[in-house]
Amino acid sequence: MNRVRLLVLNAALGPLDYRVPDDLHVEPGSVVVAPLGPRQVLGIAWESERLPGTEVPDARLRPILDVLPVPPLPAPLRRLIEWTADYYCAAMASVARMSLSSSAALRGGGTITEYRLTGVMPSRLTPQRDAAISALDGEQGTIRELADLAGVSEAVLRGLVNTGVMEPVVVDIDRAYPPADPDHAVPTLSDLQTGAADRFVDAVKARKFAPFLLDGVTGSGKTETYFEAVAEALRMGRQVLVLLPEIALTENFLKRFESRFGVPPVVWHSSQKQSERRRAWRQVAEGGAQVVVGARSALFLPYANLGLIIVDEAHEVSFKQDDGVRYNARDVAVMRGRFEQIPVVLASATPALESLQMAEAGIYEKVDLPSRFGEASLPEIAVVDLREQVPPRGRWLAPPLVAGIEERLERGEQSLLFLNRRGYAPLTLCRNCGFRFQCPNCSAWLVEHRLSKRLACHHCGHEVPSPSQCPECGEADCLTACGPGVERIADEVAQIFPDARTAVVTSDTLSNPEKIAAFVDAAESGAIDVIVGTQLVTKGYHFPELTLVGVVDADLGLEGGDLRAAERSYQQIAQVAGRAGRASKPGEVLIQTRHPDAAVIAALAAGDRDAFYAAETDARRHAGAPPFGRWAAIIVSSEDEAEAREAAQNIGRAAPRLDDLAVFGPAPAPLSLLRGRYRYRLLINARRSAALQQTIREWLDPMEFAPGVRIGVDIDPYSFV
Ligand SMILES: [Zn+2]
Ligand SMILES: [Zn+2]
Repeated sequence: MNRVRLLVLNAALGPLDYRVPDDLHVEPGSVVVAPLGPRQVLGIAWESERLPGTEVPDARLRPILDVLPVPPLPAPLRRLIEWTADYYCAAMASVARMSLSSSAALRGGGTITEYRLTGVMPSRLTPQRDAAISALDGEQGTIRELADLAGVSEAVLRGLVNTGVMEPVVVDIDRAYPPADPDHAVPTLSDLQTGAADRFVDAVKARKFAPFLLDGVTGSGKTETYFEAVAEALRMGRQVLVLLPEIALTENFLKRFESRFGVPPVVWHSSQKQSERRRAWRQVAEGGAQVVVGARSALFLPYANLGLIIVDEAHEVSFKQDDGVRYNARDVAVMRGRFEQIPVVLASATPALESLQMAEAGIYEKVDLPSRFGEASLPEIAVVDLREQVPPRGRWLAPPLVAGIEERLERGEQSLLFLNRRGYAPLTLCRNCGFRFQCPNCSAWLVEHRLSKRLACHHCGHEVPSPSQCPECGEADCLTACGPGVERIADEVAQIFPDARTAVVTSDTLSNPEKIAAFVDAAESGAIDVIVGTQLVTKGYHFPELTLVGVVDADLGLEGGDLRAAERSYQQIAQVAGRAGRASKPGEVLIQTRHPDAAVIAALAAGDRDAFYAAETDARRHAGAPPFGRWAAIIVSSEDEAEAREAAQNIGRAAPRLDDLAVFGPAPAPLSLLRGRYRYRLLINARRSAALQQTIREWLDPMEFAPGVRIGVDIDPYSFV
């Protein structure tokens, strides 16, 4: 009798036992299809001793139906799934689903039919056909993908296929990627860079777990340094994973990678074509994808032969996932390195305090790149005190910043204005009756987007066209924009310097790789004088003519009750300051603030990073905050306000009373209504010695809630809204 225990990919179910028919081969990690009542479920064969379940007598076992034609999930990945579920109080099935994230790939290899233009023009040219033909020049994809791309119906494209304007192309899904060449263009490194690169290369050769913190100022050449470790892994025939915090950064990275290794790396992110995603998944699982560059979800892919993990911009908040499995990809990457027995490099110019602490404790090896590469020097940083240098009424740029931009325009250099706020204005109100535009689904104001003529909620995506009159009192021309967003700053620049060429850079304007590439080309060729952007422009870019960075409102990030507000402000401003003077021309940074004495601002102005980290360390130690203590949050939500409140209060009443752990709340969340759900939060502050996760499980597991209530546990939270 051959039996198998399955981790079933359904978070509501525990492990289930099945019989393996004689004609099927199952080993730990095999992905199988099994019957569940009248339905079928996906499951992963697991070591039964590691997955406790109720033993079902042999006679009652149902047979599994099929083993999918993919390599079994390797043991290190199975250990990572177990660890992640345990640490983040998540269901193992939810974590495992992130590994099997291309359902198409699981069905095995094969071919798909894609379509492309033949060059033949149709005898009858309708406006839709005309639009499709110009949009699809050089494109290839499935009918649905091309219809989306061209903004026409699938029927229009099928018509073009029938008339020979488009032709089918049979594509092998599993085709290999062109190989990267470790010796394609070996750069000349500085002595410092060589020293750092050697340590990473040695670690790759050693095939052992080795966590590094690569701490280098912006422009010090961190990427070139870790590229040498990538090259070594390539020579050894092992795979490399490079995690980037945002897809927007990928474009620039791809260019640099291709010029170093001759071909682009394999890309993994959520907005890829299904066929690309499926191909990438299978090549990852079979070892053919040599270097994978991706967002955090690439971390759980089933690499056949992983040899190195790089986490670039490792301090970035976007590595923390705040829905579904609430994990921090930076921390999970280190654990994956441990299970795989490989080196992990966390690279940053402004490391998280947690990472610095690990280096100080000797757990991470710290590698420093303290100076800029080549002729570039660190920019001059000055504070503009907005209490003394007051911008004109209705404007946001103070005289010194305006003068700085003017100088750059005269010299033909570029300026970058940073404001971490999308849209035109964060609040719109009626001058006549005081009405404020609020999201119907969230406790948040609607943000005016003048470029797209809409009011939008940045939390749920709710949008309405910008109205011409007040919906409350009916007055026309009475709506006033309050406060600035990047679009408004760009307007101000256009009013002061009508001839300046301005680009607004946000996730709204750079919404796909093509738009990002077009922006980078324009900025590099000098076709843009003033860039106005959100945190999207704070990292990764290297524009030689960019010599002035203006931080429009340095106080913005310090508002609100975020435990990491000071650190995040410091990181953002230091990162954006790092965009100035990256080539031979020196850079200047002007920071507009009403609080020049705040520790963050003073440390930035003095260029004294150590002072900032020392002050922040003291504050965190005093508050028992990470890394000296631990936080966890419990988020309770329901579409019914009373139901949510009651569930939260019950959790509060059942809170454990322990010496090494304090529970605060429940309290309505700052975003007390989000996507139509009412929300309450509890915050737990624990000493490092506390068994935090176990306590939370023992606390919540026995509790029962109304069916509409959702309970989320957030270990090491980054978001407090
Ligand atoms: Zn009104
Ligand atoms: Zn909303």
